[in-house]
Amino acid sequence: MAEPGAGPKIWVFVEQDGGRAHPVSWELLGAATGLAEQLAGGVVEAVLLGHAVQAIVPEAFAYGADRVYCSDDPLLAHYRNLPYAIGVSQLVQAHQPEIFLVGATHLGRDLASSIATRVRTGLTADCTELSIDPQLKILAATRPTFGGNLMATILCRQRRPQMATVRPRVLPLPERQPGRVGELVRAELGLREADMPVRLLGFEPAAGGADIEYADVIVAGGRGVGGPEGFARLAELAEALGGVVGASRPVVDAGWIGYEHQVGQTGKTVRPKLYLAAGISGAVQHRVGMSGADFILAINRDPEAPIFQVADLGIVGDVAEVVPELIRQLRARTAGAQGGSHA
Ligand SMILES: Cc1cc2nc3c(=O)[nH]c(=O)nc-3n(C[C@H](O)[C@H](O)[C@H](O)COP(=O)(O)OP(=O)(O)OC[C@H]3O[C@@H](n4cnc5c(N)ncnc54)[C@H](O)[C@@H]3O)c2cc1C
Repeated sequence: MAEPGAGPKIWVFVEQDGGRAHPVSWELLGAATGLAEQLAGGVVEAVLLGHAVQAIVPEAFAYGADRVYCSDDPLLAHYRNLPYAIGVSQLVQAHQPEIFLVGATHLGRDLASSIATRVRTGLTADCTELSIDPQLKILAATRPTFGGNLMATILCRQRRPQMATVRPRVLPLPERQPGRVGELVRAELGLREADMPVRLLGFEPAAGGADIEYADVIVAGGRGVGGPEGFARLAELAEALGGVVGASRPVVDAGWIGYEHQVGQTGKTVRPKLYLAAGISGAVQHRVGMSGADFILAINRDPEAPIFQVADLGIVGDVAEVVPELIRQLRARTAGAQGGSHA
């Protein structure tokens, strides 16, 4: 592969946990590659911090990075805001990227805003689309505004880098190109534990978090489910389908289910193969989170519910009757298939 050129640098922060990269990093590298094509001579560069993260470097090349700045240091083993924000800001100041993309995960939201503050630039959070303004040749970062009813395209004219965060699953995963190579730059950040005001005493991973962003099947419930006991039935249906449970915002606000299950503008974006929406009206703020699903099945007793406008298949009926019937039929099929295999 040719040496990366000296054109405008488009950076992507590669988020990792325990040596495993978060897929949003590759989604962002795909977007960065598209932006580089729109900016003549643009170079795609990745920033990777952590400990024992070398195995991620070839993956970053495979997903489109021309160059990877990697700092591998035991001090960076677990994410802490200060060393990461100091380290990445140092790299920004040294290498002057034009654009810097970060995943809008919990970690990315925390880090991106700290970096933007340190390097005194603007940050457009939760973008749904990234392109290059054809006249100004700068980043055009589009995101929902006014409660999701309008889209705003935001330009950062004065300051650099132009920073943006994008949530997981909003952008498509680019094709992996095994064997694609690039340049590895080992970054010495000079961080010292003694300078860190926060010491890490131990690390316990959160238990039982719902990983809905990358699930293939999601059974989601809204207010029409009726209460927490309705969600117990949805969990049974999700289990029968090999999926996970999602939710609309009001039921999360009501405490029927945890926030980690929320789909939508202020929740998560999902792209499952099957999205089953039970007792969900289909407000625009919910739809922005799930309309990328391959197949949407809606159950609602109101035939005029907006969810039917985006559904591939709709069942007009009461969730309390339809969901148990679906569970019954799925279980009967599974039992039949098992019985058949014995025959
Ligand atoms: C800034 C902002 C951000 C927001 N972010 C989000 C977000 O991230 N995610 C989100 O979901 N919402 C979000 N909202 C809220 C959104 O506008 C809607 O209010 C919400 O999605 C509605 O949730 P719902 O469909 O569960 O409830 P409802 O709108 O009350 O709909 C309930 C539906 O269930 C049906 N129903 C009732 N009983 C039954 C039954 N027994 N059987 C079958 N169907 C039944 C009804 O016909 C109705 O269609 C946001 C709003 C704002 C302003």
